[in-house]
Amino acid sequence: MDNEDFRKAGHEFIDWMADYLVEIENFPVRSQLQPGDVAKTLSTSPPQKSESIARIFSDFQNNILPGVTHWQNPNFFAYFPCNSSPPSILAEMLTSTMGVNSMLWQTSPAATEMETKVLDWLRQMTGLPESFTGVIQDSASSATLCALLTAREKATDWVGNEYGLNGLGALTAYVSQEAHSSAEKDAMIAGLGRENLRKIPVGPDFSMSPVALEKAIVEDKAAGRLPICVIATLGSTGVGGVDPLREIGEISRRHGLFLHVDAAWAGSALLLPEWRWMIEGIELVDSFVFNPHKWLFTNFDFSAHFLRNPSDLIRTLSIFPEYLKTDEMGQVIDYRDWGIPLGRRFRALKLWFVIRSYGTSELRTKIKNHIEWAREMAGWVDKTDNFEIMSPCNLALFNFRYRPGEMFDGQALNDLNENLLRELNNSGKIYLTQNRIGENFVIRFCVGQTYTEHRHVKAAWNLILETSRFL
Ligand code: PLP
Repeated sequence: MDNEDFRKAGHEFIDWMADYLVEIENFPVRSQLQPGDVAKTLSTSPPQKSESIARIFSDFQNNILPGVTHWQNPNFFAYFPCNSSPPSILAEMLTSTMGVNSMLWQTSPAATEMETKVLDWLRQMTGLPESFTGVIQDSASSATLCALLTAREKATDWVGNEYGLNGLGALTAYVSQEAHSSAEKDAMIAGLGRENLRKIPVGPDFSMSPVALEKAIVEDKAAGRLPICVIATLGSTGVGGVDPLREIGEISRRHGLFLHVDAAWAGSALLLPEWRWMIEGIELVDSFVFNPHKWLFTNFDFSAHFLRNPSDLIRTLSIFPEYLKTDEMGQVIDYRDWGIPLGRRFRALKLWFVIRSYGTSELRTKIKNHIEWAREMAGWVDKTDNFEIMSPCNLALFNFRYRPGEMFDGQALNDLNENLLRELNNSGKIYLTQNRIGENFVIRFCVGQTYTEHRHVKAAWNLILETSRFL
């Protein structure tokens, strides 16, 4: 492919991309294909001869697109959003054109210096303390892993890194029962072991019980274990629970534990001053992550990881091979040792485009609207006979179920809701996620897609009502 072919195809692709965003509502939100449908359209062996971009593109449209779940469809109310936006997409095009690896300052000074600056913008936008320094990680899972490794090394005076974990006893960490599964995966990877991640009970509002946390820490210490870290959640995945930071922070300080906060989804709501109560006690926090790739209209991947003391993280992850040394070392930031992979994409650019293109006030308005519409929708559910709210609307997330007439609890009710969800998702008109609260199968509803408008939320509710009548 020569540069002229690239230019021509590029123009055609941009037209297709703009049309896609206009027509996205016409695509089924969740792909309607069956397992193996896409695989059977793909050749079993790689082509020996060059194929034209036109042909490849045509295969993409005909064979691949039907197997795509359209996360940017405004009728996407599943999981948490994984948003993009036009300025972010444009920046991603530049990023992939330059193909920069910003592992060192020298390997792309602009990427490093913009990363520092843009993360400080984010810090200001979210009301995080001036003492926090940010770095971009690929995902919240990785940021939490980095935090856990730092906590481990700090607690063992960096012995683990040198000699392994043998002889260090049982290192324990603490999360709420509602915490994301990534904490468990991270505990496995960090060598703590799943068994040593304590899942602390939550109260009626789904937030971690500080009393139960302290009890668990004290018991572990008494049994000769070494508690190293608490991971608090703001905006838990299932129900949007918010752990009480101040109380957890005081307990962590009292017992000398590292405190990491996973605000993967909810962190973006800190743009709204009325939600900053969630970070009351932030001065007691060591590490904090949230995902602009979820709710800040910035393409995956972009996790903003803030640290009170980045030198602990760097000490934990540093390696010094000869080929990574540069003349500027020590005078500049080399982000290579602030995360797990050595190589790093130029990710700051897309957030820089997003913040400048929307401006902070429009970003706030979008998030505020999502929260208002979710609350309105929860209100409709609550007021409607035969429907029940199963977890209150926290930020832009709630859970509900269909419960017609005098229907008894139990398996039949769970089956009915499973069917309702299946019908809704099979319609291709909306996409929702299943959840379980206690023994109950419930339907989870989260508003937050970039292009969602009030009318989409209203239409989703009408569809749920209509579908339930035919079950
Ligand atoms: N933490 C919470 C609270 C989440 O909801 C999620 C994903 O939804 C994650 C962590 C994992 O995020 P990532 O995919 O960035 O690792």
